[in-house]
Amino acid sequence: MGDSTTASRPGKGTVFVRSEICKGCSFCVDFCPTDCLSFSTEFNPKGYHFPVLSAPEACTGCDLCGLYCPDFAIYGERWKDIDERKAKGRPQPVPEPAAPAPVKPAWGTLVPTDPRGVLTGLHFMDGDHATCEGAIAAGCRFAAGYPITPSTEVVERFAARIPVVGGLFIQMEDELASSIAVQGAAWGGKKTLSVTSGPGFSLMMEHIGLAAVTETPGVWVNVQRGGPSTGLPTLPGQADMMQAKWGSHGDYEIIALVPNSPQECFDLMIKAFNLSEVYRCPVMFMMDEVVGHMVERVEIPPAERIQVVPRRLTTKPKGEYLPFATTSEDLVPEMTVAGAGHRIHVTGLTHDERGYPAMNAAAQDKMVTRLVRKIRDHADALVDVREHYLDDAEIVVVSYGITSRIAKSAVDDARARGLRVGHLRLRIVWPFPAARIRALCQHAKAFLVPELNMGQVVLEIERVVAGQAKVIGIPHAGGSVHEPDAILKKIIEATQ
Ligand code: SF4
Ligand code: SF4
Repeated sequence: MGDSTTASRPGKGTVFVRSEICKGCSFCVDFCPTDCLSFSTEFNPKGYHFPVLSAPEACTGCDLCGLYCPDFAIYGERWKDIDERKAKGRPQPVPEPAAPAPVKPAWGTLVPTDPRGVLTGLHFMDGDHATCEGAIAAGCRFAAGYPITPSTEVVERFAARIPVVGGLFIQMEDELASSIAVQGAAWGGKKTLSVTSGPGFSLMMEHIGLAAVTETPGVWVNVQRGGPSTGLPTLPGQADMMQAKWGSHGDYEIIALVPNSPQECFDLMIKAFNLSEVYRCPVMFMMDEVVGHMVERVEIPPAERIQVVPRRLTTKPKGEYLPFATTSEDLVPEMTVAGAGHRIHVTGLTHDERGYPAMNAAAQDKMVTRLVRKIRDHADALVDVREHYLDDAEIVVVSYGITSRIAKSAVDDARARGLRVGHLRLRIVWPFPAARIRALCQHAKAFLVPELNMGQVVLEIERVVAGQAKVIGIPHAGGSVHEPDAILKKIIEATQ
């Protein structure tokens, strides 16, 4: 790693190495024009030797090593550029409003997480790796997946880390198998994760429906890429937002979170696991390729500050427990661990409180109504948005994921021009924050919705706004991100 003190500045530049993610491919060492890199004798957590700057006086900071590294594990920078960057200081973002209180179960209490999985400290990591760390910190001890770009790094890291924490990763034969393996593990008492992208998400849909109907907790990560079909494996998209909500057949509800930074990948992953335990439903974690691969500072707090929801296990005696029994006040049933002694029957068929198939209209009405209501009745409690300049906004830009960072920059520009524009960022998209959007209609004359798809969440905003204001989509087919000026131009047009 480079050192910026003048006394220790041989050469014209230096390199920064993320040794923990290096896969030892040797591209950087082979292509360095001044032969100043060599391999360390140490092993990284993946079992590879990683590069070190062995002849610092020869490094020019040209960044060819960074250009050739397939894993963004190294980059070079000139001392001159490092100094200039430091002199400018880091841009000071407008602070985000305080986060809402953590999810609290109506039953039991939040408890500090198991410290074995928590890498407390400051890190420089990408969103995929931060997602993995968030899952482990949340208590996830089982993951199953099948590699697919741009999500593979999540489970690659999980596979490397979980043996020392005490858990298991299985690479299954495909996404169908992965999405059912996690459900077996969940009924075996584990908090579970499955990770995919693009066509893999489509393959998982049947089993996501099964998790919904069997009320099996678990988190499904989709690092969205350009589609349809195999589309753009290495480039971003946000075109699975409706699939997350409606992708499996039948009526059911899920919860979907959308992080916009590696830090949020960590933080919201804890929340995703907690929500899946509170509501016993599949929780979708809708990242995108840019958030998955961008590398930023991630702060992992001490384990005692990470509050998790333990599984709500029944305390009923063996003969009295009914696995799907609920009350009118509490629509989420208690769970048990398969093999612990309680009698359970878990099926995708419409079932009664015992879990036994009950295939008639009355049983269907009772079961489906409860599955839907246990989420919809709590939609207001589940609202998680970030707001900027909304008090007097006549134009509201609504966005999520990577697009929200670009939209925020366009909104800042518009404010600097004196335009009454605000920004609403969705961190939970499903259930949709309908009440908040309706409240904004009191002074907003237009909603602008940039997203990396041809118009998905904008449809929900149209439905909620119901003609009280204009709703203007800013579609983008994916493969890259919006230019801030394209959003700014639409903001200016909307004010006229
Ligand atoms: S920055 Fe350039 S000179 Fe320095 S190690 Fe990388 S490739 Fe070599
Ligand atoms: S190119 Fe990247 S992954 Fe390959 S050895 Fe160098 S740092 Fe490691």
